[in-house]
Amino acid sequence: MATTALDLAKVRNIGIMAHIDAGKTTTTERILFYTGVNYKIGEVHEGAATMDWMEQEQERGITITSAATTCHWTLDDVDHTINIIDTPGHVDFTVEVERSLRVLDGAVTVFDGVAGVEPQSETVWRQADRYGVPRICFVNKLDRTGAEFHRCVDMIDARLGAVPLVMQLPIGTEMDFQGVVDLVAMKALVWSAEAAKGEMYDVVDIPATHVEAAAEYRGKLLETIAEYDDQMMELYLEGQEPDTEQLIAAIRRATIASTKGENKGKPTFTPVFCGTAFKNKGVQPLLDAVVRYLPSPLDIEGIQGHAVNNEEEVIVRQPSDDEPFAGLAFKIMRDPHLGKLTFVRVYSGVLEAGSSVLNSVKGKKERIGKIYRMHANKREEIPSVGAGDIIAVMGLKDTTTGETLCDPSNAVILESMTFPAPVIEVA
Ligand code: GDP
Repeated sequence: MATTALDLAKVRNIGIMAHIDAGKTTTTERILFYTGVNYKIGEVHEGAATMDWMEQEQERGITITSAATTCHWTLDDVDHTINIIDTPGHVDFTVEVERSLRVLDGAVTVFDGVAGVEPQSETVWRQADRYGVPRICFVNKLDRTGAEFHRCVDMIDARLGAVPLVMQLPIGTEMDFQGVVDLVAMKALVWSAEAAKGEMYDVVDIPATHVEAAAEYRGKLLETIAEYDDQMMELYLEGQEPDTEQLIAAIRRATIASTKGENKGKPTFTPVFCGTAFKNKGVQPLLDAVVRYLPSPLDIEGIQGHAVNNEEEVIVRQPSDDEPFAGLAFKIMRDPHLGKLTFVRVYSGVLEAGSSVLNSVKGKKERIGKIYRMHANKREEIPSVGAGDIIAVMGLKDTTTGETLCDPSNAVILESMTFPAPVIEVA
């Protein structure tokens, strides 16, 4: 059977996290809208067809009902698969929140441009720190009265103890918010009224009113990235400017490295973007940023598990289709048409429909029924799924969330049933 393995470098498994009301739902819906405008599964990219889809979706409103929704975003003519994992909105120290953090590789943190960093933003931030999840930030609602981008950036520094890297400057405030200065490309991105219909922004020269601030913030950006990246430091000391590609690569390295390995526990380095999801301004560059700066499954170290009968015996599985299959069931949902669906993150190997796998926690064999990729507007049945990907499986009888599914002859348990003790926040 043909596998549907993806080019892992072009996969992003992300979550979107926020304090309630900051705009997580709106941002997610706009992401699905813009990605849907540009991509239709199994259909030709035809203007008319795209318009139909958009109109239908606008009437119905795009809703996210799935624990993981797959969408596609094209950057520099390259198609990328983005799996959006639903991170529960309420932020108790529940196993469910922790489990969703466990299966995603990177996250977008959405802030309300008026309220800035709120209590739940702090909670989700600390949880993501604990799980070593690299993050980019989106300061939303810049159209609202009282919105202040720079105040929010200062709060990310002061309240979250992170190192925010200002990637954009807003052009216009509140009702007059029109677009952003992109400090990497040193261009202005301006949205017209057509943005609400999925149109791209216009790329224009930085307005005269913003040239000075843009130069100042570009300088700060280069200084900050030099502190995090040796190659950038070298250029900085030589008084040379990196080209756009070098700069993007360095910001990506710094974002991913800052929550990993020996950097864990140090301030999290996080690129900051802005806009208004509700008014359709800022979401497309945010999607570019997801692809550019958040890790692919290949950027994550192999997942650690242990042998079935011996917790001391560590087993590491690499994100490769050539490894034995191992995956984590992280969510069970009831679909009105399909019945019970088990969402699985495949960490290694290939999972095939109709195959038999082992639930290593329960010590029971499970038969894999159909495998589905869930999109915003449809589900797609696929014959198999490779390492690094996230899908829904039909037909599992005994598996509950948090349990490992694996190759019966190469058993491993990926998640110990005890979670690290919650960090108690002291106000
Ligand atoms: P969530 O609780 O984080 O999922 O927040 P929602 O996406 O449901 O948004 C909360 C409220 O803020 C809703 O009434 C949205 O319409 C509104 N909202 C979201 N984004 C924006 C924005 O960019 N500007 C304005 N003015 N309102 C927004």
